[in-house]
Amino acid sequence: MTTKKNQLKCLFVSSEVVPFAKTGGLADVAGALPAELITLGVDVRVVMPYYRTVKNKLPEDQLQHVAGYDTSLGWRHQYADILYKPTDVPTYFIKNDRYFDRDGLYGYGDDCERFAFFSKAVAEMICRIGFVPDIVHCNDWQTGPISLLIKDKYFWDKKYNNIKCVFTIHNIKYQGIFGREVLEFLELDDGYANSDKLEFNGGYSFMKAGLLYADHINTVSPTYMEELKTAQYGYGLDSLLRDQLYWKSSGIINGIDTQRYDPKTDPALYYNFDLKTLDLKEKNKKAFKKEFGLKEDNSMLVSIISRLTDQKGFDIMKQTIFGQWVMDKIMELGVQFVLLGTGEQEYENMFRHFKYLYPDRSVIFLDFNESLAQKIYAASDVFLMPSYFEPCGLGQLMAMRYGAVPIVRQTGGLKDTVIHYNQTTKEGTGFEFVDYAGYWLYKKIEEANELYHNRPSDFRQIQLNAMKESFGWEESAKKYIKMYEMLM
Ligand code: ADP
Repeated sequence: MTTKKNQLKCLFVSSEVVPFAKTGGLADVAGALPAELITLGVDVRVVMPYYRTVKNKLPEDQLQHVAGYDTSLGWRHQYADILYKPTDVPTYFIKNDRYFDRDGLYGYGDDCERFAFFSKAVAEMICRIGFVPDIVHCNDWQTGPISLLIKDKYFWDKKYNNIKCVFTIHNIKYQGIFGREVLEFLELDDGYANSDKLEFNGGYSFMKAGLLYADHINTVSPTYMEELKTAQYGYGLDSLLRDQLYWKSSGIINGIDTQRYDPKTDPALYYNFDLKTLDLKEKNKKAFKKEFGLKEDNSMLVSIISRLTDQKGFDIMKQTIFGQWVMDKIMELGVQFVLLGTGEQEYENMFRHFKYLYPDRSVIFLDFNESLAQKIYAASDVFLMPSYFEPCGLGQLMAMRYGAVPIVRQTGGLKDTVIHYNQTTKEGTGFEFVDYAGYWLYKKIEEANELYHNRPSDFRQIQLNAMKESFGWEESAKKYIKMYEMLM
């Protein structure tokens, strides 16, 4: 790939990227934002680990080998092979089978060492691949040490002198806090072991390194940026963000890949549809009910596609209201329910039990399946996202694109993207509630159900309003470019 003179060069670093490896929204962003930046004229290259799942999709013989070098992690030396895919969005893969040739992406006992290696290997590849970026754009804790390494360790090399680092927080709950081995792997002296640097609650934090050493910090919605500065949502980093780093922080809302996720062309659907052929959405619902054994009646189909964790509001679904389990109250409304998700054992068991109670009115997939997710968005009437906090949330954006009306708690990106429906003005794209309580979730489903059955034209209006929203990346990508240019 040739680089034009004065073209902004960006190395985009992420531990997961669609279509190669995904556990959540970070992968969607890393798959779509660089592509949009390229369309807008930025020379972007992405870098990620060469996991087993990537290997299965893109074997080594389909990639170029562009560099190989030893990376030291204290006393241990590990080899980094840099593989390169120059087409579409140019992407580098860091290969080390000891660390990445495993079934999953995260959750291993040596994650500290794995992502210290990844961070070091990325920082060290910059002087070896013939591509010196103006911006290194890091994402979440797995990439936290990179800006520290660039600013404090490699600054003596002129290739690193002018690099500006951006750190994007996709979820502050996951911070990558480990023991003293952080210092050992990153080869940092005791000067980094105090609370002004990496020390955090007795451990050492990858994310804190990212925040402190980046030239600019952003997160994935303006509201979440404000929430992060409060004790309720900051997970211990609120005062750092509020009192020390405020001046270099901002929020830019995520988009979705509107070409990949288009109900008009998506091959995962039973029937493709758009604004003009919304009636075909109903046919998707019918076909879905038939395939998965749901009673074929005129009930409203409620869906959830999510990681099963407290953050996503599953703890309020455990609550009791009016002496009954919230989920029972919801089912009393006569709705049908579909869930696709994996996560905490407690919630997997809760939904197994729920399926036992409502065998022909619910379908539960304890699985991660992208094409099934698209099928569900297209089939469902409403989509629940009652999150305790939500940095941006992509589920509600996908739901709106596929004509499923979102019911969300008013927090973070949910607040920034969903507008509560106003029956008088006919404006709005969904339903919102503020207080984090099962009661309000139930009340909003009741409100949606009432509209669905008794005021179908209003319900259709919300679907149309939601589908008309533009959730593409162009506007946000332009904001990222402005942010990069501001740092130059
Ligand atoms: P988070 O990144 O916190 O998990 P987001 O809403 O930002 O939440 O992004 C979640 C993404 O992952 C969406 O694209 C959603 O459709 C997808 N997703 C979540 N759970 C599943 C699942 N079990 N199967 C398939 N896709 C899923």
